[in-house]
Parts: sequence; structure tokens; C-alpha cells
Amino acid sequence: MISYEKARNLVIEKAQTLGQEKVKLEEALGCVAAQEVFSKIPVPPFRNSAVDGYAVRSADTGVGEQPIKLKLLAEQPAGEYFRKKLGRGQAVKVMTGAPVPAGADAVIPVEEAEEEGGCVILKRQVHPGENVREAGEDVAKGTVIIEKGTVLTPPHLGLLAACGFNEVLVYRRPRVAVLITGNELCRPGERLKLGKIYDSNSTILQALIRTSGAELISLRWVKDDLKSMTAAIKLASARADIIITSGGVSVGDYDLVKAAAVKAGAREIFWKVAQKPAKPLAFYELKKGKKSAWIFGLPGNPGAVMISFEEYVRPFIKKCSGLKDFWPQEVEAVLTAPYRKKRGRLNFVRVKLTQTGNVWQATPLSQQESGIISSLAQTDGLALIPAEADLLPAGTKVKVHMLGWGRTTKPGRSLGYEAWGRTTGK
Ligand code: AMP
Ligand code: MG
Repeated sequence: MISYEKARNLVIEKAQTLGQEKVKLEEALGCVAAQEVFSKIPVPPFRNSAVDGYAVRSADTGVGEQPIKLKLLAEQPAGEYFRKKLGRGQAVKVMTGAPVPAGADAVIPVEEAEEEGGCVILKRQVHPGENVREAGEDVAKGTVIIEKGTVLTPPHLGLLAACGFNEVLVYRRPRVAVLITGNELCRPGERLKLGKIYDSNSTILQALIRTSGAELISLRWVKDDLKSMTAAIKLASARADIIITSGGVSVGDYDLVKAAAVKAGAREIFWKVAQKPAKPLAFYELKKGKKSAWIFGLPGNPGAVMISFEEYVRPFIKKCSGLKDFWPQEVEAVLTAPYRKKRGRLNFVRVKLTQTGNVWQATPLSQQESGIISSLAQTDGLALIPAEADLLPAGTKVKVHMLGWGRTTKPGRSLGYEAWGRTTGK
């Protein structure tokens, strides 16, 4: 049996990025940028108006000559380009986003001027630069707009689009296959037969994988028999970078994942970690040419599944995805109640977190057994109670790994431009 620290390091040292690929912006949400991106153009690309108004020469609007009357040369909507230079005493009507013609250096809002017989009458003096957006004031040409390793969020994607990119180079998402073992399992939605329980791990794992940024490529139920399990591992390893198995990794008569992994050609990196829950956690490498599929054998209890995922699988996925910051987010918290345990194994204790000022308080939930699923739903974090500890009095400082997965959506199909009702690029 190895320590938690040793096990997590063994896992993370195997995690490597899986190559790079160009993806359409519509598919890049949540991906990790694989290179720095420079803007090839200034944004905005040209000097333009920040308001609907009249582009003028500010020098024509000096004090003493009010009301100022300027000759209206043209009207310029956004998207059009007025090529003439504005002369003395002249103005051009411009809409927000329209280019500010050469010669003009300011725009007076439409609300502060009036049109009359081909002229525009200004109600006040205009200062140089007023309501003019300079070319490149948002993004100068050559600026780094995306750093390597950035998780692409909606504004990052918008920034890329504003600079004219429709694709971005990202690290390939890890592909994950899930194998669910347990002859006692029954599908949710079906009638529960005597002796059976509903399979919750399929659902937990699918959801966890979705929040991790990895791609779930398959999920299968496998019978607790060596032949089926071996075949399932072999099949999954063809495409998957990561195989997650649920259940069957302990010492029971029907715990066949380990034997099947070896039969399928995998090598054990570790089995059994001095932790509670998830002591029988197993980690294997299945070589396939130059690449490998990594097998995480998770014990079947839902608490063990979740904790193994958060402490081992998610950091592994993150590092494979190109992220530098892959460990769980850790805070220090003060126990609000004593915690008693046996010496020997690190305990992951489900806690509720509260905060007073800068101090976090961790309150252990009443049910901690690895088969208990209900208290998982109330867990804010996992307090790490060291292996050698036996009784921690209230007030003891402990490390807590925060849980929290934000809100993710299923990666959708790209809609493309047709969906806007536009077929040409004009
Ligand atoms: P195992 O690791 O296969 O020995 O399973 C440990 C415990 O977890 C047993 O009580 C199983 O019935 C339970 N278990 C295994 N797989 C699942 C699953 N997919 N959903 C819910 N409970 C499970
Ligand atoms: Mg089982």
C-alpha cells in the first residue's frame, strides 16, 4: 500500500498532453490554447465613431462662433467608407461604428446637433478626439491576445473572432471510456428487482467527465467475468486515452478488474492507497505502440468513485489537457468539531464550509461512509485528515480540497453562418 502523496505523484507524472489540433471557435469553448496567438490586425481596424452623430473638424467648432453651422457632405452608415477628406466647415453624418473620414477628428452626438437645409447646426464646441475610437485602441496589431495554456472562455473566443480568426490551436481533449462493473446493478428508470441496486456511478462519472473538459467516448456495462472484462478493456483501449472502471477492484471473488487489466496487457503502477475512502484504487498503463491508455480502477462505492475522480482522475485529465494548474483547489480551514479516526490512512472527510472574515471553518457531515451518496450532495469540500492522526480536536487547522464544478453545457454542434440567415460574406 502506498501513500496518497506517492500515488497522486505517480499519476500526475504520467500525464502528458495528447497533441494539438485546430478547432473552430464554435467548438473551442473550454479547450486549452496550445500556442500564443497574436493579432494580425488592429482592432478596431480603422478609426470609427463611438456614437451616432456628425464627424467634424474640432477646430471648426471653436468658441465665439456659435451656433456653428457646417455643410453636410454625406451620410455614412457603418460598413461604408467615405473616401473624401473633410474640408473646413464640412461635416459627415456617421453612425456608430462607421469610419471617421480623413480630416475629421471628433464626432458630435446626434442629440446635440440639428440638421437644416443640407447643413448641420452644432449646439456646442467639440473637443479633438471626442467620440472617436482610434484604430488599434482595443487591440494593437501584433499584441498577444491569447496566452498559451489559457482555458478558452466566451470572451476569449470573442476576442479571437474580433481579430478575424475562425479557428484556434488547442490541446486535444483526453478521450475517456467508462466501464461499469457489478452484476447487482439495475438501470435507473427500470423496476428494481430483489437484490439489485440502481447504478449511480454511470451517472456520476458521466457528469464528472463533462465537468472536466475530457471527452466521454463510451460507457459500457460489463459483467463480472474475466473474459468480458478483458475484452471490454481491450476494446476501450483502442480509442481511449483514459479508461475508468467502476467497481470490481477490491479483494472480493468477483473483483476481476485487476486480473482483466493484466490479461489485456496492462502493467500495474499501483494498487491500494493508504486512504479512506477508495483504498483499493488501482492505476495501470496499457501500452499501445508509442501511446498508452491509462486505466483508473475505481472502487465501486459512490463516495470512493467521486473522491478518486477529484483527487486523481481530474488532475490527470487537466494536465493531459495542457493545464499547468491541475491539483484540487486547496484552502486551510478550522475544524468546528473534533474528528476521530484510526491511524494509518489519510481520510478524506466530507465537510461543509463557512467563512468568517478570512477564516474558513470546516464542519464534517454526519455520514462519511464510502457507500453513502446523500451526504456527497451536501459536500463543499474534502478535509484531508493526515494518516498518522487519530483524534483532531475542534479548532485544528486542516487542508480542504474544494469541490465545485460550475455549470457546463454539452459541447454542441457548430451552427455556422447559415444559422444567422446569411449565406454570403458581404
Ligand atoms: P465493488 O467495488 O464492486 O466491490 O463495489 C463496492 C460497493 O459499491 C458495493 O456495495 C456495490 O454494490 C457498490 N457499487 C458498485 N458499483 C456501483 C454502481 N455503479 N452504482 C452504485 N453502487 C455501486
Ligand atoms: Mg462489484
